[in-house]
Amino acid sequence: MYDYLIVGAGLFGSVFAREMAERGKKCLVIDKRGHVGGNLSCEKIENITTHKYGAHIFHTNDKAVWDYINRFAEFNRYTNSPVANYKGEIYNLPFNMNTFYKLWGTVAPDDAKRMIERQSAGIKEPKNLEEQAISLVGTDIYEKLIKGYTEKQWGRKCKDLPAFIIKRLPVRFTYDNNYFNDRFQGIPIGGYNQIFEKLLEKCDVRLNTDYLESRPFKAEKTVYTGMIDEFFGYRFGPLEYRSLSFETQTLDTPNFQGNAVVNYTSGDVAYTRIIEHKHFEFGQQPKTVITREYPKTWQKGDEPYYPVNNDSNNERYEKYAELAAGEKNMIFGGRLGSYRYLDMWQVIKEALEMSEKNSRNN
Ligand code: FAD
Repeated sequence: MYDYLIVGAGLFGSVFAREMAERGKKCLVIDKRGHVGGNLSCEKIENITTHKYGAHIFHTNDKAVWDYINRFAEFNRYTNSPVANYKGEIYNLPFNMNTFYKLWGTVAPDDAKRMIERQSAGIKEPKNLEEQAISLVGTDIYEKLIKGYTEKQWGRKCKDLPAFIIKRLPVRFTYDNNYFNDRFQGIPIGGYNQIFEKLLEKCDVRLNTDYLESRPFKAEKTVYTGMIDEFFGYRFGPLEYRSLSFETQTLDTPNFQGNAVVNYTSGDVAYTRIIEHKHFEFGQQPKTVITREYPKTWQKGDEPYYPVNNDSNNERYEKYAELAAGEKNMIFGGRLGSYRYLDMWQVIKEALEMSEKNSRNN
């Protein structure tokens, strides 16, 4: 009999399992996929580490989380500086002095600020995402860098999307192309798989095992990191997600786009971005691997990538959370168990807190 059955060998399940195993608990980790690592799983193609479920850049302001993850891999100095391709024109992201110079030829921060103020004036109470975006960054940035990208991401017109989706937009009046504001950032050299091999080294692991098909194992406690609505048989109806499809290609050229991340911001192009994986690790391989990302509406059987946290889904989630609270010896965690978008550092923090809480209660 195991102390803990952990459903899901993603980041939440694996950190939790590691922590409990270090405290002497017997843990079994199962996953319905054929590999560990959840959405961080990587694959080597032409000796290039390829992020199978979308690009994953580790970033955090939390020193304890950064120190923790560095126990399991060495990180490089990769800094995320995506660029936007709008109909062949290239702009730096996040919106900063380089972007404004390219758009308007403005050199001084005050000139760029005046330009934005002039274009955003007139909208006092934004009624939808379009008005919200224009009120924050003006019409030029909205038209070229936000509109098409956002409409592809959400599958709806910006005029039909609620304003709250973009409360703030990253705007910087410095010549700084670093996308994140965090103190710590990087990519594990050689990819994420090694982290999971080490996290799970003291646990039993069974792959290709879907908990919901037969609930096959018994343990004192079960940690569930899959979809909470699926766990309860969609009793209150399914929660909504956005999904993605990935199209990966190997190209016989050493450098396809000169950057790891290029966003395609025009509505004319069906994909939202192209990832060129080798640039995450400054790769010098003779070939290159690229992945195009196409957003789509989630349907049963697709990977649920982004929760759609609008009022009706959040209300539905609360009903599931109430049921979950009544389940004896069950813990729901991770992004799917709690129906939230979580960055990796948040998942690690929550798994560490959850394991700490559980060892105090035992
Ligand atoms: P998951 O990784 O989804 O793990 C859950 C696991 O449970 C899966 O392996 C699944 O197969 C398994 N499972 C589910 N149901 C069952 C079942 N019934 N039986 C058995 N197993 C089951 N974060 C960052 O910090 N930086 C980034 O750059 C970044 N990029 C991202 C890009 C994309 C496209 C997406 C979608 C997310 C990104 N994230 C990023 C967030 C990051 O992916 C998550 O924080 C992290 O993967 C969450 O870990 P998890 O363990 O909660 O979930």
